[in-house]
Amino acid sequence: MELLTEDIVPEYAREAKREARTFAAEHIAPNAEEFFRTGAYPWEVLEAGQEANLVAQDISEEYGGRGFDVVQMLAIAEEFYRADAGIALTLQRSFGAEMLETYGTEEQKEAYLRPLAEGEAITGLAVSEPETGSDLTSMTTTAERDGDEYVLNGEKYWIGNGVEADWVTVYAKTADTGDRYMDYSLFLVPTDADGYHADHIPEKMGMRASKQAHVVLDDCRVPAENLVGSEGGGFMMLAEFFNYGRVVVGGHGLGLAAAALEEAWDFVHEREGFGRQVADFQAVQHGLADMRLEFEAARALNYRAAKKVRDYENPGLWAAMAKTKSTETAVDCAQQGMQFHGGRSILSDRRIARVYRDCRIPVVYEGANEIQRNLIYRQSREE
Ligand SMILES: Cc1cc2nc3c(=O)[nH]c(=O)nc-3n(C[C@H](O)[C@H](O)[C@H](O)COP(=O)(O)OP(=O)(O)OC[C@H]3O[C@@H](n4cnc5c(N)ncnc54)[C@H](O)[C@@H]3O)c2cc1C
Repeated sequence: MELLTEDIVPEYAREAKREARTFAAEHIAPNAEEFFRTGAYPWEVLEAGQEANLVAQDISEEYGGRGFDVVQMLAIAEEFYRADAGIALTLQRSFGAEMLETYGTEEQKEAYLRPLAEGEAITGLAVSEPETGSDLTSMTTTAERDGDEYVLNGEKYWIGNGVEADWVTVYAKTADTGDRYMDYSLFLVPTDADGYHADHIPEKMGMRASKQAHVVLDDCRVPAENLVGSEGGGFMMLAEFFNYGRVVVGGHGLGLAAAALEEAWDFVHEREGFGRQVADFQAVQHGLADMRLEFEAARALNYRAAKKVRDYENPGLWAAMAKTKSTETAVDCAQQGMQFHGGRSILSDRRIARVYRDCRIPVVYEGANEIQRNLIYRQSREE
């Protein structure tokens, strides 16, 4: 059964998808179990991804990338996450740099963006804090102007590549204007700057081949020219970026859902009970049918949303719907897939058990799905 078919993918995005599929089969899937077990950072896979020109390639050709748009990034994501979500998340090495490309200066792009596209640097996006994740207007990290520098103080949590990165984009409060949407700004912070400290957060139950950090900014000084865009524009830039990011997170869900369905399908067609194949029971067939139905509905919505975001047609609404539907479909498919595996579902070296644990994460990151539902309701009302 072929689930991640090309028919729904626009013609121009199919080549990237094929490359991603080949790469995933050669480099991600065969390493998935080992990296999940050890929780090690998959440096070799990352290097291979860079050599294959499949990492950070949403950066434009002008700055050394391939200029993949959101549809192409979705097509790559579903292939990578089907093979393994933990390694796939690590391969998302340019997370947040999209804002630099849109709002940065020429100098910033040459200094920070080009090395990413050319595979010579790693970055991350530092928004979440130990006490605040969903509420972007309650973050407490501050950046105060001091002459020709900004001084950053505060803590960030869950920061992907916060230890491994060369620089991160930090979201920090720069004012108290009375309009909470205008109080935040974005800064390029080199991880070797004085006052930048990062440690890995404790071991996780899912996506173990990806690494997140607890970052402490202690009088961390960056030159004023490291401000991205304008002061006070941080929230708006982030909101716009999340439209793009959430469509791609939908792809995380699609890849995980496809993996769950494949595993469940194979298992029940091999397993026997009561003198027949488990797949011969109609209840099991209906379970598989429901998985397929939900998967196809999610995928149709996700590709529709990708085109809406690409074309700036009510992107916030469509991104939120795609993210919610695809990531929850992954949870539902994983749950059913576990049940169909019987006792073997809990053997930790099984792909289905990995998917079951991994799929808990996309329903939360880049905005918990409750936040997405708030957006879906509000933006539907405004239509
Ligand atoms: C593996 C992983 C990687 C991550 N990577 C990054 C990263 O690279 N950079 C980064 O900045 N962050 C990252 N995050 C953080 C992630 O974005 C946050 O976990 C997420 O935004 C939720 O924030 P929180 O965990 O603080 O939950 P909270 O905001 O405390 O929310 C907890 C729960 O409360 C409920 N809730 C909260 N608000 C509402 C509401 N308004 N209405 C209804 N229910 C609500 C929801 O059920 C929610 O899940 C990552 C997280 C994980 C797990």
